[in-house]
Amino acid sequence: MAESKTKAQARCPECDSWVTLKDGVKLWELVVCPTCDTELEVIGLAPFTLDYAEGDYYDEDEDYDDEDEDYDDEDYEEDEGF
Ligand SMILES: [Zn+2]
Repeated sequence: MAESKTKAQARCPECDSWVTLKDGVKLWELVVCPTCDTELEVIGLAPFTLDYAEGDYYDEDEDYDDEDEDYDDEDYEEDEGF
């Protein structure tokens, strides 16, 4: 067996199967899992790690429209009102 060179492979976070990466694959490169068709991106090279590509697309600036969480802070007023 002359195959000392390891192929670039990473686990798909969706279906847990091995995805073979291209030679010279770069960080943040997009790959599609051939098994479950999920779009993934390379988030690590040593070892090769894949994560969902969509996870990087949330824009933090426009995500603050749910500030009106109705946690009941009325319970705390009783504590401070001595
Ligand atoms: Zn998959």
